[in-house]
Amino acid sequence: MVDRDASRRDVSRMDQTSSPVSHKPAPARPTLERWLTGPRFPGLPNRGPEHAAPLLSFEFFPPRTEALEAQLWACIRRLETVAPRFVSVTYGAGGSTQARTHATVARIVRETRLTPAAHLTCVGATRDEVDEVARTYWQVGVRHVVALRGDVPGGGSYVPHPGGYAYASDLVAGLRRVADFEISVAAYPDVHPAAASATADLDNLKRKLDAGATRAITNFFFDTSTYLRFLDRALAAGITASIVPGIMPVTNFVQMRKFAATNGIEVPDWLGHLFDGLEEDAETRKLVAAVVAAEQVRLLQANGVDEFHFYTLNRADLTYAIAHILGVRPVA
Ligand SMILES: Cc1cc2nc3c(=O)[nH]c(=O)nc-3n(C[C@H](O)[C@H](O)[C@H](O)COP(=O)(O)OP(=O)(O)OC[C@H]3O[C@@H](n4cnc5c(N)ncnc54)[C@H](O)[C@@H]3O)c2cc1C
Repeated sequence: MVDRDASRRDVSRMDQTSSPVSHKPAPARPTLERWLTGPRFPGLPNRGPEHAAPLLSFEFFPPRTEALEAQLWACIRRLETVAPRFVSVTYGAGGSTQARTHATVARIVRETRLTPAAHLTCVGATRDEVDEVARTYWQVGVRHVVALRGDVPGGGSYVPHPGGYAYASDLVAGLRRVADFEISVAAYPDVHPAAASATADLDNLKRKLDAGATRAITNFFFDTSTYLRFLDRALAAGITASIVPGIMPVTNFVQMRKFAATNGIEVPDWLGHLFDGLEEDAETRKLVAAVVAAEQVRLLQANGVDEFHFYTLNRADLTYAIAHILGVRPVA
């Protein structure tokens, strides 16, 4: 016979002597009771080859060194096989960063079958200078621009350049005058940190689309319901263009959390808990990252989302694996 009082005594002793995180007392209800009375989840629907694969796009950043350049190109070559609808290259402030963006975009045009989208910002340049960059892109065959306001290098509050485009909506209107670009713009399910309110931010998104943008790509987010609610609010505000979810497979949780904090992106406690204790274990972090991102995209897919933009961080493996889970296969 089980001495129930003894086991209770053991539990109370454990409570006093051990860490509350690693040695929690056993749950009060027996497992069978929890199975029978707890919530039931039907599971995510599975999609076979008869379903159309979703449309993907991938984001890269221009590399700073030769080693990083080699890494980027290995990434581009691997992801090229799944025929994304476009790949985008970010744009920084400062001449050398911008030259690297141009060089990367031009090489994508010359050497791959990919459709590049060049990011372009309003920061630190006059309208004429920005227009000239856009014209140069058009001349080398770039037909898609991701139009952004940009941020002040090193942080600080944004002040428009005198004679420059003040906000992304102004840039979109300017690009429309330069050439017949396809234009994507940024959207923020967690609300842009400088926005006066969520409604003002949504009004701004609408302004960008009304100025001539084709679609919005969201900043990354982790709570799927935040994104879905954002779609509801966008629709209620009269936005009908695609709002493509930006997916960030997180391998470096600490770094991501810092970025998220300055960008007003909510990082749920459960995500921190998943990466807890893995600070020195990159291999396991990668496996966890794949599971988290795969779960996120599958949940979005189950909710009818069939376009995804991946922040690749110039690494192909996770993005490729998650694309595969979404049903995307290499194209001959
Ligand atoms: C998909 C994606 C790609 C990105 N790529 C890059 C990149 O390559 N390079 C880079 O530097 N950054 C990039 N960013 C970051 C982006 O530049 C920053 O988030 C920036 O702070 C805002 O850019 P935006 O285009 O959304 O700006 P905007 O749409 O202009 O909005 C910026 C803020 O100003 C407010 N606002 C807009 N118009 C007005 C107005 N008339 N009066 C007052 N307030 C106004 C908006 O509500 C918002 O809070 C990217 C972001 C995303 C989501």
